[in-house]
Amino acid sequence: MTTVDTLVDRNRHFAASGPPAGLQLFPRMKTIVVGCVDPRVDPAAVLGLRLGDALVIRNLGGRVTPDTFRTMAALRAIAEVEGAKPGPEWNLVVLHHTDCGITRLGGHAGLLAGVLDIEPADLGSKAVDEPVAAVAADVRTIRANPFLPAAFLVSGLVYDIATGLVDVVVPPAPLRSAESVA
Ligand SMILES: [Zn+2]
Repeated sequence: MTTVDTLVDRNRHFAASGPPAGLQLFPRMKTIVVGCVDPRVDPAAVLGLRLGDALVIRNLGGRVTPDTFRTMAALRAIAEVEGAKPGPEWNLVVLHHTDCGITRLGGHAGLLAGVLDIEPADLGSKAVDEPVAAVAADVRTIRANPFLPAAFLVSGLVYDIATGLVDVVVPPAPLRSAESVA
């Protein structure tokens, strides 16, 4: 039995109980999570997300990169096609974690800079070795993006692999200040 056989078998069990009906293209909890590809930190498990609850963008480290913004821009275009409008009840959650594999790339500055889509000289600003500082840095990057909806509630969480607990490092707050929210 191959791994794919196992996955298909699990799918059959999933489908046998009836695929969830009535799920919308856009998430029930009006939430986007940016998280890491690490198999130990699946936001569905860690944050108890059910199918249809959230849009999840995963990359190495759960970092906010130009590619993350391109994905968000595409999501916004899809939302406009759907007639949906991101409002103040939408959440943008950055989820980092302890013991992230990205910290093993200290000897691969060029590769790491490429993954983050920055110059190697700017790696220090990403605080790759420190998840609390890294989440704060990514929230700052989000706040500096003028193309994201000002009313988005942005937050930063760090998940502790050892305890299973998340810490709200950056509490949810509008992406830009009230006076600039149109
Ligand atoms: Zn990670």
